[in-house]
Amino acid sequence: MEPGGNRQTIRQQIVSLLSSDELTVRDLSQAVSITEKEVMNHLGHIETSVHSQGKKLFETPYKCLSCGFVFEKRTRFTKPGRCPECKNSHIQTARYLIKKCH
Ligand SMILES: [Zn+2]
Repeated sequence: MEPGGNRQTIRQQIVSLLSSDELTVRDLSQAVSITEKEVMNHLGHIETSVHSQGKKLFETPYKCLSCGFVFEKRTRFTKPGRCPECKNSHIQTARYLIKKCH
């Protein structure tokens, strides 16, 4: 694996993976061999680029496994530290999927 490979290719790989499976940032970082932070950065761009193709990046939001609190209004792809309701740090990771929107 070459360091600092082609970004365009990685982004296309992520789009391809998310078009067939609902995946977490960690799944994606392992699949394309980049850091989770880089995946989050790509997701921001992907969200915009797939929109022009009539598709949408859907998010299954982070959720507290202790009380069920859902982190719905997140604008970034970063992981929340702990639950604002019960202060538990057992958070179910968000998952992403690209689908056509009508
Ligand atoms: Zn909670």
